[in-house]
Amino acid sequence: MDVQTTFLDRLFESGLLIDTGVDGLYGRSGQFEDVIAAFERLIDRFGGADGAEAMRFPPGMNRAFFEKSGYMKSFPQLAGTVHSFCGSELDHISLLQCMEVGDDWTKDQQATDIVLTPAACYPLYPTVARRGKLPMSGGLFDLQSYCFRHEPSQDPARQQLFRMREYICMGTEQHVTDFRQRWMDRGVEMMKAVGLDVTIDVANDPFFGRAGKMLANNQRDQNLKFELLIPITSVAKPTACMSFNYHQDAFGAKWGLYLEDESVAHTACVGFGLERIALALFHHHGLEVKHWPSKVRQALWG
Ligand code: ATP
Ligand code: ZN
Ligand code: MG
Repeated sequence: MDVQTTFLDRLFESGLLIDTGVDGLYGRSGQFEDVIAAFERLIDRFGGADGAEAMRFPPGMNRAFFEKSGYMKSFPQLAGTVHSFCGSELDHISLLQCMEVGDDWTKDQQATDIVLTPAACYPLYPTVARRGKLPMSGGLFDLQSYCFRHEPSQDPARQQLFRMREYICMGTEQHVTDFRQRWMDRGVEMMKAVGLDVTIDVANDPFFGRAGKMLANNQRDQNLKFELLIPITSVAKPTACMSFNYHQDAFGAKWGLYLEDESVAHTACVGFGLERIALALFHHHGLEVKHWPSKVRQALWG
């Protein structure tokens, strides 16, 4: 049995995570949620004075916006769509017969207008574009959403439905790159406050296919993505618990995000993987919160 399975088993045994029978789809205990809530308050303390506009979207987004985002070009393997039964009473009878005999009853399901949100910031860009031009001082937004990615795994830090807290900045190149740097510094400081050792490294997204390799290399060469890494299930391959993404003016151009001087807005987003951060805390400080170092509990609960 490998190390990953053991940590997952211990999480199940302690009740912190609840097995659903599907890899990467877990219930969580009140204690696990309390850690996430406390860490989110820590995020609020670090970012609160910036005056970000808070918005919360459900874990599904407008399919038309999803299509326009180009997600299927880059990550078709990760996407999840919502399909529903849209048939007649007759269709219903054959549906039930299909289920009865164990045939595939899902093949006649029809696509709805909703797709599962792949990253918390996706619903934001079209929303902000609809408002009209951004002031020269830019825009700053605070989002949190469940996100879906079809990447079943026995690694508890790789879930299929997980929460991402994000700050998204829109403005001039200087403005958004300063924002990203500020959050890299804050990320290190925050993790230190809760007793976690971190490294920051340049990274790339897992763009699909052979053409995707080029996109990934380009992203890496241009330092467009950084990750804050914490060893959870492996020291050799630490887990990305935060990511810091600079989109240049790509999202601005795609969605029509303009500043008052008619220039295309640059954008950047920083994301916290909330389950991963909670798991890093449980992995490093133990499964019993009451035994965590008092300095850590102080930072989280005051
Ligand atoms: P990884 O390289 O580990 O797959 P990622 O680069 O795909 O991570 P991002 O797309 O940058 O991650 O997502 C933002 C944050 O969401 C990550 O820094 C991470 O903390 C969290 N995250 C990403 N995928 C998962 C997942 N499958 N389960 C839990 N958290 C995740
Ligand atoms: Zn984002
Ligand atoms: Mg990934």
